[in-house]
Amino acid sequence: MKRCPHFIDGAAREPAGGRWLDVFDPASGRPFATVAAGDARDVEAAVAAATSAFPAWSSLPNEARARWLDRLADALEARVDLFAEVESRDGGKPIRLARDVEIPRAIANLRFFAHAATQFASESHHGQAGLNYTLRAPLGVVATISPWNLPLYLFTWKIAPALAAGNTVVAKPSEVTPLTATLLAELAAEIGFPAGVLNVVHGLGPDVGEPLVSDPRIKAISFTGSTAVGKRIAGIAAPLLRKVSLELGGKNPTLVFADSDWEDQLDTLVRSAFQNSGQICLCGSRLLVERSIYTAFCDAFVARVQALRIGDPVDPDTQFGPLVSQAHFDKVMAALAAARDEGARVLCGGTALDRPGWFVAPTVLDRLGPDAVTNREEIFGPVATVQPFDSESEALALANATDYGLSASIWTRDLDRAHRLAAGIRAGIVWINTWLMRDLRTPFGGVGQSGLGREGGLEAMRFFTEPRNVGIALR
Ligand code: NAD
Repeated sequence: MKRCPHFIDGAAREPAGGRWLDVFDPASGRPFATVAAGDARDVEAAVAAATSAFPAWSSLPNEARARWLDRLADALEARVDLFAEVESRDGGKPIRLARDVEIPRAIANLRFFAHAATQFASESHHGQAGLNYTLRAPLGVVATISPWNLPLYLFTWKIAPALAAGNTVVAKPSEVTPLTATLLAELAAEIGFPAGVLNVVHGLGPDVGEPLVSDPRIKAISFTGSTAVGKRIAGIAAPLLRKVSLELGGKNPTLVFADSDWEDQLDTLVRSAFQNSGQICLCGSRLLVERSIYTAFCDAFVARVQALRIGDPVDPDTQFGPLVSQAHFDKVMAALAAARDEGARVLCGGTALDRPGWFVAPTVLDRLGPDAVTNREEIFGPVATVQPFDSESEALALANATDYGLSASIWTRDLDRAHRLAAGIRAGIVWINTWLMRDLRTPFGGVGQSGLGREGGLEAMRFFTEPRNVGIALR
């Protein structure tokens, strides 16, 4: 069984308390690895190491930090197959998704922010009151906390800009999927990454996450996860006046108009609801469909959903795997029962699959209005609802009938309408005639219950630095 120890001060470290947690294979429901069950003592050691490493790391020339990130990316690129296999087994995600999308994206994150380190510039303001220029200094030791749904993808999305900007990091991956962060730490040791610059502490949120976010030496917290935990972290950080970035849940609408190329785009529309078994914060879980095509759309969509190849995630033909854990399986099954109780019609799925592991059939529901709990609360599983609309204004009202505001996709050939809706929908990310098209320079994040702040490109580099204005009188 693979063991996942902490990685502190450049080396693997056993948990101070000697406790370990099981890590499960979602396709069988059986444990296949163990992870350190850290506590405040491990956090203390990691923050101390990061504090000692900060002066040297932050004073390196930007090019030197960029080279380290590039070397880590090179080492990862040389092991894509291994990382993809491990990610697939750990999270139950189809291996092709891990190999073709997620691990390459982790490499891209490291390379993108390596470049950012060398391109990052600050502003000057001349003329109004002398000459002002802005210095942007790294913050110090920062904490990153990431979830299980895109383990290495989101882990690197946070550590890369933090390190590029000159900070040292204590990273806490999800205890549910700790494998690839552990392997990345092993790669860092192998290439001689400076000790203490990147530390990984494993364990449960209350045992490791909370001591980390409350440590007085932590200057900023970058968190991706559930809205409930995000609020808890914000509550701890607020009285400490600590900088936080919160990427939280979503309940994203997919607006399909009759004039769109929806028949040609069915594969993308199905992916947008069911990729990674719906366990992506950007998945469109509420389909809003113009009434004139409603029946035809539902029939075609459901047929395509039923054709998804469900199977063992490590089989390259598998398109749809299990949910990540027993706890998440139970949550999704409870949401399905609640949907039935509030009057949902099940167009397909609606049940667990009769096989080992945590498989829930891809499910499409309708006959639920915007007030239904199923349409308001994040399920984060393979459950999509469909609602009809008669007009653009009704579509907009339905799209905005949620407290979340992460992303939306709009499907229409009418450009005016697309741009009107893009401006009217309350969300941080809107796609027109596409889904999950990502340019790493763009601001990434949500509004309302979906979070606070933005990641990506300059937004991330700014989050991980402190601006200092310098004003000079010009006489
Ligand atoms: P989670 O909130 O349960 O856990 C996320 C991380 O926080 C884990 O590492 C966990 O150990 C840690 N944690 C838990 N309790 C903590 C505490 N009290 N203090 C500090 N840390 C704590 O979320 P999850 O179930 O792992 O992930 C699923 C959620 O993440 C969904 O709601 C999904 O929408 C969201 N998500 C959002 C984005 C985005 O970019 N907005 C991306 C991916 C996932």
